[in-house]
Amino acid sequence: MRCNVTRIIRETNKKPIFVGVNFNAMISLSEENYLKAIYHLQQGITDGVSTNAMAEKLETKASSVTDMLKKLAKKELVIYQKYKGVTLTESGRKSALEIVRKHRLWEVFLVDKLNFSWDEVHDVAEQLEHVKSKKLARELDQFLEYPKRDPHGDPIPDAEGNLKISHKTLLSNLEVGQDGYLIGVKDTSSDFLKYLDKNGISLGQKIEILDKENFDNSMLIKVNRKEMRISLLVSSNIYIKP
Ligand SMILES: [Zn+2]
Repeated sequence: MRCNVTRIIRETNKKPIFVGVNFNAMISLSEENYLKAIYHLQQGITDGVSTNAMAEKLETKASSVTDMLKKLAKKELVIYQKYKGVTLTESGRKSALEIVRKHRLWEVFLVDKLNFSWDEVHDVAEQLEHVKSKKLARELDQFLEYPKRDPHGDPIPDAEGNLKISHKTLLSNLEVGQDGYLIGVKDTSSDFLKYLDKNGISLGQKIEILDKENFDNSMLIKVNRKEMRISLLVSSNIYIKP
């Protein structure tokens, strides 16, 4: 789509005028993935995202990341300073949130309407999120009756890019005697979600901490009227609303 725009500009042989051109239409699929990665890595940190963190997340070389960041900076989607890392500009953030919105809406669609399980949807949504039709996203949102959260408990941004952040903490931060409701998962990998399924743990359930081991921080929890012991790895991947 980016080529189309370039071609139109060249054919008319005039100065590029972006009036009426959908800005997002000029962002390629891999550029979208970069914006999304920066958006996710930016959560919870105040500095810029490092090139190494980007390379790790996108499973690519740091040099490829640098090249792409320069490209995105030229398009004014990111601010990139070599030793300070990268941050999103306002329009970069908007684009990232649009992708996140589509991703999460598709995940809801797949679970609610096509009977996918919550561990199957992420990879499919990774593909569907790149379909560039504002109408499709809008109609999908309406069809699903404006869901607020995706199947993993993550909030869905609205069409204007507003995101409702709810107060949450990791289960691992809770102490004996405390409880809360499971509102999301940090690790959305299929393996982790299957582990939760196997143990009858799902969104919305109340979890109580019955005991915590000083040695390895494993916990004895009560969930769904059942007591079970979970490792620190598990408790540090579950979000709780106290
Ligand atoms: Zn996902």
